[in-house]
Amino acid sequence: MPDTIFHKILRREVPADIVYEDEHLIAFRDIAPQAPVHVLFVPKRDYATLNDVPEEDAVVIGRLATAAARYAKARGFAESGYRIVMNCNHDAGQTVFQIHLHLLAGAHLGRFGTPA
Ligand code: 5GP
Repeated sequence: MPDTIFHKILRREVPADIVYEDEHLIAFRDIAPQAPVHVLFVPKRDYATLNDVPEEDAVVIGRLATAAARYAKARGFAESGYRIVMNCNHDAGQTVFQIHLHLLAGAHLGRFGTPA
């Protein structure tokens, strides 16, 4: 498992705009936001990609999603809407190999999933 920029953020070796943290995960604003709201939810357990999460650890993914929903409710955009995305490997454009959930919101996001 490589040491990634997100591990450095977790260890407070690299600064980030942290919006939430608990014993399971950390959430911070993306450095290059793709929407008015763009927050990354990162588990404290190490998995390079979604492919590496065993069935018995499904709760790790669930916690990322429910933390994102709680954040959306707390910030008042749960009803207007948001998108959560997890990129896996090359074709999805994954660049940081510690799993993370993107939360995108704050504007009508349009369609997605077309080839680049
Ligand atoms: P991926 O493409 O792997 O799904 O998403 C990685 C995300 O991490 C990108 O949206 C990128 O902008 C963000 N990112 C990369 N380096 C940093 C950093 O040092 N700080 C923060 N806050 N976000 C980063």
